Amino acid sequence: MLIVIGGVSVIPADGDRFETLKLRHSEAPEVCMFEPNPEIEADRKYNFEVITRVSVDIWVDALTYKYPQGNWEIKIHPTVPWEEHELAERSDYPHCNIMVVFEPISDGKRLGYAYPDFSKSSHKHMVVVVHTYEVDQNSIVFNQDGTVTRELEPMSLSLIQSILQHELGHAFGLLHYNISDPLKQGEYGTDRSMMYPALHSKSGLVHIQEPELIMMSKIYGEDGWGGKMPILMPKQCDFIHNILTKCDW
Ligand SMILES: [Zn+2]
Repeated sequence: MLIVIGGVSVIPADGDRFETLKLRHSEAPEVCMFEPNPEIEADRKYNFEVITRVSVDIWVDALTYKYPQGNWEIKIHPTVPWEEHELAERSDYPHCNIMVVFEPISDGKRLGYAYPDFSKSSHKHMVVVVHTYEVDQNSIVFNQDGTVTRELEPMSLSLIQSILQHELGHAFGLLHYNISDPLKQGEYGTDRSMMYPALHSKSGLVHIQEPELIMMSKIYGEDGWGGKMPILMPKQCDFIHNILTKCDW
């Protein structure tokens, strides 16, 4: 949208921009969760299984509610035990095209990430990594070797779920929802889109918003996975107040 001021200069209005990865699944994705190292996450590994199921279901339910004529079902395979996948290659799991991995270490900045692995043409898949510990900013540890570090503390389960919900968006082909105007007081960004690039610790569990659902229909069509895909996938679409204004290819 453009605002014309004084009839001479033309400036773009403050808007939000949703980018895509320009990647999509050709069929319904199938999710596999890989059990975390039981020595580190013995108590919480079942929580992570629940979080994985709930996070996938939240996406499926939201997409099905918005586009009820579409097939948005996602198969979740039984969790792969640690002792099995510790020594295995990802190519040993050809049925999985979204692999969810829980790793304890976080550099404090990146809570999780997702990346495509297309190294094997026969098994293209997305890997979702969710960190489960964060740096405790209040702790200082003086190590024997003279170095100073900070302690890691377990992330809350609601933060882990928020991260996974966001990373699943990447695994489906979404990138981020960026905004050009500063956040208003009390706004966290994630209240406009779950694909906002930052998570605020006070925002609590994040929720799927309208723009990510609209973007999913731009990537996959309203008929869901594996149906009649739009021929062109947008590079980005612009939103104002969560309303789509235009897309660029
Ligand atoms: Zn992200």
